[in-house]
Amino acid sequence: MSLEIIKNVIAPKARGGTLRIKRGQIFRVIAHEGKQVLDLTFLNANDYREQYASELSACIASIKGEGGYYRLSHLYSKPPFENLMATVTDDIVGAGGRGGERGGHFMMCHCSNRLLDHLGFPGTRTCSDNFADAFLEIGLKQEEVFDESIFNIWMQSWVAEDGGMASLPPLVEKGDSIDFRAEMDLMAVYSVCPDETSPCNDFKAKPLKLQILGNSDNR
Ligand SMILES: [Zn+2]
Repeated sequence: MSLEIIKNVIAPKARGGTLRIKRGQIFRVIAHEGKQVLDLTFLNANDYREQYASELSACIASIKGEGGYYRLSHLYSKPPFENLMATVTDDIVGAGGRGGERGGHFMMCHCSNRLLDHLGFPGTRTCSDNFADAFLEIGLKQEEVFDESIFNIWMQSWVAEDGGMASLPPLVEKGDSIDFRAEMDLMAVYSVCPDETSPCNDFKAKPLKLQILGNSDNR
């Protein structure tokens, strides 16, 4: 059965938000204006205590030989839940379609105020500010969740030989997308990363297009 677009949202640049996704639906992120990362986490829409865990998911992917810190197929929730939350069903960048030595994503924390202080840009809006706003949309305070466990979609960063972090502009090209199939009712909580000080968004913040797709049985 063919999928239809149930929801089509332009996520403004440098802002956060939330989207509810029903089990079985597809959550699609589209880089419709080019190189821009999305910092993404998922909550169980029926129990916000169950949250996505990027490190655990990366470890499991490594053991199964299907990715790791730079590419994921299966997203799990943190202990004690450890349930499959979402499956990546289409990922041109992660599949190597845009080149690069790694998967083209990064399972790590988001940018925050202290981080930008250290980079010499105090007072700059960060993903942390976006997440604070996004969690408020669903009645949560940022301090009540561990939002440092993030799927950094298209963030081309890695841990270098010396243990330090390195970054290059995203490999994603205009119009590319990534699809997540919800394996439970999900609340996507996201930040369209505002950073213009590093290669992470190719030095210019942009909006992203977000879609929810489903069939007539699953609207
Ligand atoms: Zn950020």
